[in-house]
Amino acid sequence: MNEFDCIIIGSGPAGITSSIYIKRAGFKVLIISKNESSLTRTEKIENYYGFEEPINGKKLNDDGIKQAKRLGVEFLEKEVVSIKYEQDGFEVITANQSPSKRYIAKNIVIATGVNRQTPKIKGTKEYEGKGISYCAVCDAAFYRNKDVAVLGNGEYAIGEIEELLPVAKSVTMLTNGKDYIENRKINNKLKINQKRIREFRGTEKIEEVEFEDNSTQKISGVFIAQGIAGSMELARKIGARTENNHIIVNDRMETTIPNVYACGDCTGGILQISKAVYEGTVAGLEIINKLRNKEEI
Ligand SMILES: Cc1cc2nc3c(=O)[nH]c(=O)nc-3n(C[C@H](O)[C@H](O)[C@H](O)COP(=O)(O)OP(=O)(O)OC[C@H]3O[C@@H](n4cnc5c(N)ncnc54)[C@H](O)[C@@H]3O)c2cc1C
Repeated sequence: MNEFDCIIIGSGPAGITSSIYIKRAGFKVLIISKNESSLTRTEKIENYYGFEEPINGKKLNDDGIKQAKRLGVEFLEKEVVSIKYEQDGFEVITANQSPSKRYIAKNIVIATGVNRQTPKIKGTKEYEGKGISYCAVCDAAFYRNKDVAVLGNGEYAIGEIEELLPVAKSVTMLTNGKDYIENRKINNKLKINQKRIREFRGTEKIEEVEFEDNSTQKISGVFIAQGIAGSMELARKIGARTENNHIIVNDRMETTIPNVYACGDCTGGILQISKAVYEGTVAGLEIINKLRNKEEI
């Protein structure tokens, strides 16, 4: 078991900045991150303080990671699929995690950026809360003995399927035209449908999926799990409030769950490096205060 004062999910400017403050204050901090920051998608940045010439986004992010590593921040390159309550803290669950490797922390920072994985399939928005769900842990119980589907084809989708299989009558993985990851844990209640989806349809609630070949499949619920788990999904798993695709925080970057913080693009508002760095700083300083006050008691 690996125990930390703080685990930060995400290695963009928000997460890296938090880690630097917390580590320099003498605490044990781990960053778990998979895939690259939004920064890496841009060639030139010229509105961030301190660079006479435009700076390449990937270089800026790589330099931030090197800076944190030099200071002793620990890194784990893994996809986070869930966060759970643990005695005296939280457990961060990663994809394909072996039971002997557990990551436990007193404080969590969600710094996972914006989720750009919302599907553009007709009906998704209309049926949100009416059969379209983003969290199997939260909603699986509503689908006892019903036929449900999971939209996705990767580790995150497999995690959602594993939550649903014990309760649902059947679970279909909808890959929407993509290949899927084979998984030894999959059982015979699971079907795989690789057809491309045209639309989710129903009346008051979602009732069926229509595919591009005009075939349909009856379904009571669809769990969206494309790509990797995004900020909204992670926040919802721990019960933190979200609104309009961002995590709700107060001015100390606290979510609605004590000791769970969020910062950067995932809290909405201005999606810029300077705001991510500011919020990462606030979250870091708040966590340091909390850890120090606890130590004095
Ligand atoms: C094309 C483009 C151009 C931009 N240009 C500018 C600009 O010129 N100036 C400017 O100020 N801003 C610019 N931005 C915005 C800037 O990149 C973001 O505001 C900033 O990167 C946000 O930082 P963040 O730390 O909140 O999130 P991110 O930098 O997006 O980092 C999030 C991190 O979390 C990781 N992550 C997410 N989910 C998981 C998971 N489940 N498990 C593990 N890891 C996970 C990601 O892989 C990533 O490492 C641009 C963005 C884009 C896309």
